[in-house]
This record gives sequence, structure tokens and C-alpha cells, in this order.
Amino acid sequence: MPFYYIRWTNFSCPYCRHVFNNSLSASPVRLGPGFRICPKCMRSFQDWSKEWSAQSRWKKIEFFLPPGNLVWIDSALLTMFLPLYVWRKDLTLADFVFVLLIAGLLLIPFLVSCGLRTGEVVRSKRRVIRS
Ligand SMILES: [Zn+2]
Repeated sequence: MPFYYIRWTNFSCPYCRHVFNNSLSASPVRLGPGFRICPKCMRSFQDWSKEWSAQSRWKKIEFFLPPGNLVWIDSALLTMFLPLYVWRKDLTLADFVFVLLIAGLLLIPFLVSCGLRTGEVVRSKRRVIRS
């Protein structure tokens, strides 16, 4: 499994080093107004986020495919294609259905992540409408 996608990332305040968020597979694309107020020291700082409408088309695609999601997609693809090479001769329909089921289960975290990220997009669009 391609674990090189997974990297622990802490997001901290540049003034007091308070960690306000962390992630096992941080997306390089973050949605937000471009600044953040530290919940500990209450100072404002630039966090390099952009609202959904200001993101380029490629960044929008990248937003839904962060490194953590690529792990699940790669795992599902490996699960689907590996048996074709290992048991090529005696592969039955039941084996194929079982492999597809496992691959489908591996895609559940990706689908959940897409649902959560869609919620982030909706909140970003609401922030733009309110401002
Ligand atoms: Zn702070």
C-alpha cells in the first residue's frame, strides 16, 4: 500500500505556536478567507487559504483528492487488479464479485471524505455570499 502519501501535519499559530488543526493527510488546498484568528492568543494571521470561487479548476480537483484519499483509491485499484495477475487461470465470477466488494469497501473512506469536503465547499460559498 502506498503509505508515502501519509504525513502528519500540524497547523499552528505563528505567534504562540498553538496547534489549531492537524491532519494525517493534509490537503495542499485549503478553503477559507485567507486569514485566521488564533483561538488562544486571538491574533490574526495569514493562513494562505482561499475561498472556493477563487480557486483554480485544478486546485478544486486537488481539493477532493488530498494525499489521504489517494491512499484509498490506490488501495482499491490494487485490490481490483492484483488478483487478475495472481490467479489468472482459475478466477471465478464469485472471486471477481468478492474482489469488487472489497475494493468498494476500500472506497468508503474516500466517499465519506468527499461528503465532508462538499460541506466545506458549501460553507465557503456561504461565506462569499455573506461578505
Ligand atoms: Zn496564537
